[in-house]
Amino acid sequence: MPELRKGPLVGRWVIVAPERGRRPSDFRVEAAPEVQPKEGCPFCPGNEHLTPPEVYRVPGPGGGWRVRVVPNKFPALSDYPALDPAPQGPFLRLNGVGAHEVVIDSPDHAHDLDGLSQEQVELVVEAWVHRLRALGERFHYVQLFRNHGGGSGASLSHPHSQIIATPLVPPEVEGRLKAALEHWRRHGTCVVCTLIEKELSSGVRVVEASERFLVLTPYDSRFPFELSIVPRFHSHDFRSMNPKDRAAFAATLRRTLARIKRLLGDIPYNLCLQTSPTPKGDWPGLPVWYHWQLELLPRLTRPGGFEWGTGIYINPMPPEEAARHLREVVRGG
Ligand SMILES: [Zn+2]
Ligand SMILES: [Zn+2]
Repeated sequence: MPELRKGPLVGRWVIVAPERGRRPSDFRVEAAPEVQPKEGCPFCPGNEHLTPPEVYRVPGPGGGWRVRVVPNKFPALSDYPALDPAPQGPFLRLNGVGAHEVVIDSPDHAHDLDGLSQEQVELVVEAWVHRLRALGERFHYVQLFRNHGGGSGASLSHPHSQIIATPLVPPEVEGRLKAALEHWRRHGTCVVCTLIEKELSSGVRVVEASERFLVLTPYDSRFPFELSIVPRFHSHDFRSMNPKDRAAFAATLRRTLARIKRLLGDIPYNLCLQTSPTPKGDWPGLPVWYHWQLELLPRLTRPGGFEWGTGIYINPMPPEEAARHLREVVRGG
């Protein structure tokens, strides 16, 4: 059974999930194969019996499917009966109650989101919204993320995203909430809305500005070519997008991944959605001062001892230069 643990020294949460691999040989460092074969892929059509029963499906032609969502076979958090949370000395322990799901983009084994049709990516975004809403009714926070390529944490190469629902608001999210609330108290404005105005007026970190979304390299980028996709309209919650905005978001995401691929090749990356906690998360007034965004983190560099020791990242690529390179990429040119 997974467990959430917090120790007395740093106050950080760790999920201990022994089901995900416990033989020493499970941890040998191996380069993940770039593309795994279709044969035996649990996410390919015809192999549906290899995954747990699906919780969401967009039907496809001939009794098939276009998008599937299934519980993760080796969940980091899962629905287990409540455990006694009594602290044992300095050690705080919560049982790993939560949910862990996999969103399978499409029956296509090989193509990432930028290689799928606009309509297909809209279906993926709709599946994300649907599952974030459903899990948000039961848990404090729901994290959507995507690991693509060797070195990103991905263990299966068939394109997919994952969703983990947690019984607490994670510290990274709490840090952002506190910063946004602090800005609101001082200035009476949403910090991200203010930032969008500033970024648009200078333009140096803007990669793309469409009617509804802004793509930029964050001022404090931790990684080379780190990107944020931010709605230009104020919105605290990814789940609240209407169908028109979902379509615009899907188009922006496709274009952005295509830009990255055109400039850098099929590199490993992570997507992390930063959105509002659910009402269970209990942050009163949040809709006026919080603003969601999607982070795209290329995995070209690996955090080393300094980063782990200090939490300060060394980024060899100034975000202003990264934005210039990404702006100059012409799709298909
Ligand atoms: Zn596959
Ligand atoms: Zn805002």
